[in-house]
Amino acid sequence: MSDGTLPKSIDIGRLDAGGARFVGAVPLTTMHRLRELVITSAGEVNAAVEVDFKEAMQVIVTGVATTRVHRECQRCLEPKAILLRAPFRLFVVGSFAEAEALGQDADPLIAPGGVIDLLTALEDELLLALPSVTRHGQDEVCEQHRMHTRASGAVEGALHQQSPFGVLEQLKKRGD
Ligand SMILES: [Zn+2]
Repeated sequence: MSDGTLPKSIDIGRLDAGGARFVGAVPLTTMHRLRELVITSAGEVNAAVEVDFKEAMQVIVTGVATTRVHRECQRCLEPKAILLRAPFRLFVVGSFAEAEALGQDADPLIAPGGVIDLLTALEDELLLALPSVTRHGQDEVCEQHRMHTRASGAVEGALHQQSPFGVLEQLKKRGD
């Protein structure tokens, strides 16, 4: 088994029978699809990946990818930090047809020509780990309440200024 940094892709044919293990980090900016769904491009994705050869030449890729991203809270529109942790266990196949043959119990990783596009695979897993709803939790500061108070205050002020009754009142006061 060989250890190494996180490669962009893994050519299975070049690995020895003992498999391989990779541990490393890549900048978040290299994952464009994920980058588009989060607020800042700062930070990096950490991953540990192990490639194992099972019987019948079945290749299994296990590991975990983690990163910290920021998304807009749907209540207050302020950034909320989200820790993404995506553990995975993928069966390497050569085509979509082979992937379908695996059945629903196994997650396929399609590697045409025996080459795993590792960064794309890690990004896929992180995208699946993204929560569908982003909201500050109860233990976090959510600006919603303050925003609401501020907004209604502003609305009341504007209504008061534009209200003809407000103008009338002011005229009356002046006449006193
Ligand atoms: Zn919030």
